[in-house]
Amino acid sequence: MKKITERFRQFYGKHTPSVKLPMVAAALIFCMIPLLIQSRVLSSSSRQQQIDRRIIDVQNQCQILSNKMSRGSYLTNSVVDNASLDSELSTLADIFNGRILIVNSGFRVVRDTFSLSEGKICISEEVIRCFQGESTNRYDTKRHYFILAIPIPEYVQSTGGFTAGKTAGVMLVTASTESMFELEESLNDRAALYQLMIFVVLSIVIFSVVHLLIRPFERLVASVGHVAEGNLDEDIAEDTYRETKEISGVINKTLDKLKSVEQSRQEFVSNVSHELKTPITSIRVLADSLMGMEEAPKELYQEFMQDISDEIDRESKIIDDLLNLVKMDKVSQENSFAPVQINGLVEMILKRLRPIARKRNIELIFESMREVTADIDEVKFSLAVNNLVENAVKYNREDGWVRVTLDADHKFFYLKVADSGIGIPKELTERVFERFYRVDKARSRETGGTGLGLAITKSVILLHHGAIRVESTEGEGTTFTVRIPLIYIP
Ligand code: ADP
Repeated sequence: MKKITERFRQFYGKHTPSVKLPMVAAALIFCMIPLLIQSRVLSSSSRQQQIDRRIIDVQNQCQILSNKMSRGSYLTNSVVDNASLDSELSTLADIFNGRILIVNSGFRVVRDTFSLSEGKICISEEVIRCFQGESTNRYDTKRHYFILAIPIPEYVQSTGGFTAGKTAGVMLVTASTESMFELEESLNDRAALYQLMIFVVLSIVIFSVVHLLIRPFERLVASVGHVAEGNLDEDIAEDTYRETKEISGVINKTLDKLKSVEQSRQEFVSNVSHELKTPITSIRVLADSLMGMEEAPKELYQEFMQDISDEIDRESKIIDDLLNLVKMDKVSQENSFAPVQINGLVEMILKRLRPIARKRNIELIFESMREVTADIDEVKFSLAVNNLVENAVKYNREDGWVRVTLDADHKFFYLKVADSGIGIPKELTERVFERFYRVDKARSRETGGTGLGLAITKSVILLHHGAIRVESTEGEGTTFTVRIPLIYIP
């Protein structure tokens, strides 16, 4: 049994059946079962009716004959006198294909239409009950025959004429119903043939209907196949059924997402090439101009070499940022989350950035509301906080301030980095998280920005299952708020 199941599973795995098969089977079962039940019920009830009718028929005929026998004193007459009743008896037995025995009050068979038991004693249950005044009939369902016992009363002469007296004999009739069923069986065979024809016609009709019903799904598969070949711009619109409409909608949505991912990938690649090319172009221009100069002074050489060195630094920073970004995007197996004291970490980052802030006389303030320990990846989280504070300094005014606030509740800790800087135009606040996006390209370049800092920060925050929000007023300042769960659940 196990082997068969295994084989079936292997076959099923290799040859996935079409949905048409169960649909056709279900419809056929649904149509054929009532038909078969109906024909079975009809046939058995008609069989019972026929048997009942035959028994009544035979009973009536025999009753008439029994009366005749009674009136003609059959049981007491001689054989010669009974000749006409005997022939009637034989004819009746022939008509319903049966056997009739006439038994007298001594249980002796006086007449047998088969001439086999005459003179013999017959003490059957039916005969005894009939002598006791009960006329009986019994049907043998297994052997398909019925037995009737009809009383032959004594004919008594009274003042008003003749009346029936006590039972003087019994007419015992046995008749087979086999011939009736032969006819029925041939009818059944014909019915089976009709049923087979109905089955074939129904199968063809149901298969055609199912085929028509399934067509929209087949069209849908064909359209998706077309898209899978690379025609991403094709719209899938199979609106015949609600289901196909819903599937089409979901596929179109997925396609839109795919398209936007593809578009952003292309944009990213072209941005990366552009960003990487810019310093190289500058280096080339600087080098070419140096080579084109005959006997340039040493100071000019030094100045140009310094510029070339700055461009190389910039190129290397872009590459570092890109590598950081790629690391964040990779499925994070390399993350090492561990409980870290956040207050100390933020203080260390601010300490590192203080010299840069001091250059422009920017005050770096740290407000810690409580001691916070959380599960974080220390290296990546430091990078994110560093980017936020560095930006707050970079995009600040002379003599400005940067305020970093750390707070927590029972689930999250909150890090706020607010500055008194140039701010971001309202409509651009969400775009600053895009890769290579810079509000003011020239200024960002001046300050050594790559346009990747906030993209890296957002990736890090998402890696920690956190969220980042920005609020800004142009000319007044910007506040970035980060929310991170205290406990990291992978
Ligand atoms: P960049 O390397 O240019 O700083 P980021 O991704 O860190 O790139 O930031 C993207 C852009 O968002 C910046 O170019 C700048 O225009 C803007 N920005 C980021 N932080 C601030 C801030 N604190 N104040 C004003 N503008 C900011």
